[in-house]
Amino acid sequence: MSDLILFWHRRDLRLRDHLGLANARQQSAKIVGVFCLDPGLLNPATVAHARVAYLLANLAELQERYRQAGSRLLILHDRPISALPRLAQSLKAQAVHWARDVEPYSRDRDTAVRDALQTAGIEVKTGWDQLLHAPNSVTTNSGDPYKVYTPFWRNWRSHPKAEPAAALSDLEDLTADERDTAAQAGVTALPDLRDLGFAWDDGFPIAPGEAAAQERLDHFCQRAIAHYDEQRNFPALDGTSQLSAALKFGVIGIRTVWQAAQSLYAQANSDEARQNIETWQQELAWREFYQHALYAFPELATGPYRQPFQDFPWDDDAARFEAWCTGQTGYPIVDAAMRQLNETGWMHNRCRMIVASFLTKDLILNWQQGEQYFMFKLVDGDLAANNGGWQWSASSGMDPKPLRIFNPASQARKYDPDGDYIRHWLPELRSLDTGVLLTGEIDAGDRQACNYPEPIVNHKQQQQEFKRRYQAQKERD
Ligand SMILES: Cc1cc2nc3c(=O)[nH]c(=O)nc-3n(C[C@H](O)[C@H](O)[C@H](O)COP(=O)(O)OP(=O)(O)OC[C@H]3O[C@@H](n4cnc5c(N)ncnc54)[C@H](O)[C@@H]3O)c2cc1C
Repeated sequence: MSDLILFWHRRDLRLRDHLGLANARQQSAKIVGVFCLDPGLLNPATVAHARVAYLLANLAELQERYRQAGSRLLILHDRPISALPRLAQSLKAQAVHWARDVEPYSRDRDTAVRDALQTAGIEVKTGWDQLLHAPNSVTTNSGDPYKVYTPFWRNWRSHPKAEPAAALSDLEDLTADERDTAAQAGVTALPDLRDLGFAWDDGFPIAPGEAAAQERLDHFCQRAIAHYDEQRNFPALDGTSQLSAALKFGVIGIRTVWQAAQSLYAQANSDEARQNIETWQQELAWREFYQHALYAFPELATGPYRQPFQDFPWDDDAARFEAWCTGQTGYPIVDAAMRQLNETGWMHNRCRMIVASFLTKDLILNWQQGEQYFMFKLVDGDLAANNGGWQWSASSGMDPKPLRIFNPASQARKYDPDGDYIRHWLPELRSLDTGVLLTGEIDAGDRQACNYPEPIVNHKQQQQEFKRRYQAQKERD
């Protein structure tokens, strides 16, 4: 048995501020990274091409980081359950380490991989890295997981947070013989996006790599965070961090992100400045809330949490769903948002809430259709956050407030008052009056001239219809 530790990377594509890697480094300098491209997770018909492109670009960056640190990142393109034990055994690795995940698929997979490695006599070491607080470590007084965000936040924020971990350096590489062995055990070159059946040429909201994520964090902390409380809701402004894809793939450590906000908080000299920072910190806590929830209630991944939604009579209307997906509903704020998603792989949070409300409460279509479509498009697509956002919008989640119905026109008037966002994403409507753009009350002639569709539903009628069905479900239960 050698002193080789294989570190299995998954959603932790960095060497800096990595708790698991820092621990492994205490044990050995011979740390070699592994990433397994799992064919079971790479279906071009359901997984966002932007997300896979961002993943591959980050793997290339991580390979470079490992090279700079003196070691390497090995790529496998196979199911982890067979590929990892094979590699670890061939290399006679002392141990395989990884950071734990909250998703049901990952948890089952990890248990199977752990069993196979241990059966082969290889040590397994795992720990939490992607969260400031591990699931089950922030609970109610009776030790139960929180189901409501606000008390979770109050408790979560009071827990001391770890400092960023040291970056990895001075690693030892595989020998030439070991490299041959690794190749025979299935290690391959990093494939091209197209080899995997994906295509994406439209860039990312954040450049790949640790350095770019750190730069984005610094930039945000120097500017937009100072106005975050107010500006985060305006999709035409550059008011949020756009760190979501980097956080999804762990391209930046969460302790680094928290520390940056905390040091600003410590320097802040007004209540207003502190409020802006704290509002952003609350978003980081939402991320953790949804991950804790998914860990405690894995059934969230496959269906609604609340009883009235178990067999809700959703409509089944392929044409309306298609209009929503393609940004052709005739509601400008909804269509602008869907075009932003389709063209960039990212959508502003306010707009995610607007289109999710529209799909579920105006089109009365099952939120799971929207959830899947987002996973098919979002560069930051993340099961816990996406499912949490959709169940919140559909009113099917843990949150006690039952009915949230957004009026698209009021949302547009409040959050895109000059129509800049709508005009940007719907250039065909650019010349219309702002008032008309926001209410969506575009006369038939203008719609025809702009080649823009009639509204596919009537908001008022549909909201009443949704309420009627919801009430009937509640009474039945
Ligand atoms: C229907 C719906 C689906 C969503 N799907 C996803 C998803 O797949 N992946 C995803 O990361 N976020 C998702 N969100 C949450 C949120 O929209 C994005 O995290 C945010 O828009 C990312 O932009 P940002 O990085 O500029 O966020 P910032 O405002 O700068 O927030 C900082 C970070 O906090 C986290 N965060 C912020 N808001 C939330 C939230 N409501 N829930 C969980 N984490 C949050 C993200 O990691 C984000 O990067 C969804 C929200 C809704 C309503």
